Amino acid sequence: MPNRRHVLVAGAAAAAVVAFDPVGLGWVTQAQADTGATGLAVPDLDGELVTDEAALAEAAEDYGQIAHRRPRAVLRPASVEDVRRVVRFADRHRIAVAVRGQGHSTFGQAQAPAGVVIDSRTLSRVHGITPRGAVVDAGVTWFDLFSAATAAGLTPPVATDYLGLSVGGTLSVGGIGGASSRHGLQVDNVLELLVVTGDGRLLTCSPTQNRDLFDAVLGGLGQYGIIVRATLRLIPAKTTARVYRLTYADLPSLTAAQRIALADGRFDYLEGQAVSTPTGWSYLLEGAVYHSGAAPDDAKLARGLPTPAATEVTSLPYLDWINRIYALVEQLKALRFANPWLNLFLPDKATDAYIADLLSRTTPADTGGGPILFYPVPRKRLTRPLVSVPDSPTVFVLSILRTVAPPDETVVRKLLTDNRAAYERARAIGGTQYPIGSIPTTRADWPRHYGAEYGRARKAKAQYDPRGILAPEQGIFS
Ligand SMILES: Cc1cc2nc3c(=O)[nH]c(=O)nc-3n(C[C@H](O)[C@H](O)[C@H](O)COP(=O)(O)OP(=O)(O)OC[C@H]3O[C@@H](n4cnc5c(N)ncnc54)[C@H](O)[C@@H]3O)c2cc1C
Repeated sequence: MPNRRHVLVAGAAAAAVVAFDPVGLGWVTQAQADTGATGLAVPDLDGELVTDEAALAEAAEDYGQIAHRRPRAVLRPASVEDVRRVVRFADRHRIAVAVRGQGHSTFGQAQAPAGVVIDSRTLSRVHGITPRGAVVDAGVTWFDLFSAATAAGLTPPVATDYLGLSVGGTLSVGGIGGASSRHGLQVDNVLELLVVTGDGRLLTCSPTQNRDLFDAVLGGLGQYGIIVRATLRLIPAKTTARVYRLTYADLPSLTAAQRIALADGRFDYLEGQAVSTPTGWSYLLEGAVYHSGAAPDDAKLARGLPTPAATEVTSLPYLDWINRIYALVEQLKALRFANPWLNLFLPDKATDAYIADLLSRTTPADTGGGPILFYPVPRKRLTRPLVSVPDSPTVFVLSILRTVAPPDETVVRKLLTDNRAAYERARAIGGTQYPIGSIPTTRADWPRHYGAEYGRARKAKAQYDPRGILAPEQGIFS
């Protein structure tokens, strides 16, 4: 009698893809091949290419729960070479390919309809942590990297608010957080990348080697190559976060406080948000100072800021602070509500009027209780050419993290329309979108999005993904 393991292994082998049928545009599994189906043999893999229902359904889903486009196969690579083999095969036969890191896009950005999704969770080794930098596979989560680095007394300079995102996923968009006021985005803190290009070359790139590829891939929305490994800057970690929450009754007081704090750099972390109250909105500045040993002088940190209506000061271990919303997000994710997020960058001068207008149009029903975040970052720290931000010395990040609960298709459609309208109003004042959210776009939007950098994007596409197989759902080039 075969035991359970034998049955499972035999089942997995039968479901494994062995060939591609170029006529029916489908994949042939071992079980189908055993009954006579034929096709073009796929290369031998260290990992597996699968077509089972569970894998396809998962790859057709993301945090947004709005777009659901099924691939025809999912690659679970066991090596960098697997990524290269499948990309070469896909390039030869013009099959769409997208990488899915942790699937935290909100509008199908990591989906590949009728193509292959590469699940990078199987490439998740931390190869090394030294003061010179961290070397990690693209599928490593920021939580794993922060845990490994802080154990060695080091830290990446910038954390996203939630750490369950993959390194490859945030390096493909930007990676912004409260420490961006000091260190720029996560993409501004990369030393070197190993990339499989859309035509299947494996290239190392950095500021001094294959610079054009480095410039294209960071914030490149998965269009030019697949990041398989990254070397990231680390800095010494402090042990403790002293956290300041200052509540203001009005928007101008909050943004004035944020601008003062940004200018003198008093906080290591600087964010802010509008909070819905029974009588309207209140405004919260969130600042943190990282320290080892003696706590900072609280009175000095509040000096010169508009007087808040309320102040709360707490201390917590650095990693607990960096990882503070992980459990909450995991709970929300399990509920699978739709999340039609709006994420924008605004020029400083127009920010207050834009946010005041947006809040006057926004009810708690439009956010589903999700937060409205906004905070300033200095433009000079944002160095990556394809992360498109306004031409302004200070740029405000604005995110409405909408949730639709209970699920309601009509509400989702209305909020997508609202997002588009808000995007157009932002563009009219020199704003851009941070393309992690759910803004319906057409191909015509992208030349305007990239502005003077559009030529760089097109050139890189022609050079590194000439047949346009990578991340087609972004709709940038096709
Ligand atoms: C709860 C939550 C909190 C968030 N907080 C923040 C935040 O604080 N700051 C912030 O900046 N963003 C934040 N985001 C957005 C997040 O950074 C992006 O959606 C990011 O792309 C998600 O990473 P992922 O691993 O889930 O990528 P996926 O959604 O799986 O992929 C995103 C895009 O990147 C491409 N991609 C993924 N991996 C690779 C790779 N290895 N090589 C090339 N392309 C690749 C995909 O094809 C796709 O186009 C948040 C999202 C969620 C859901």
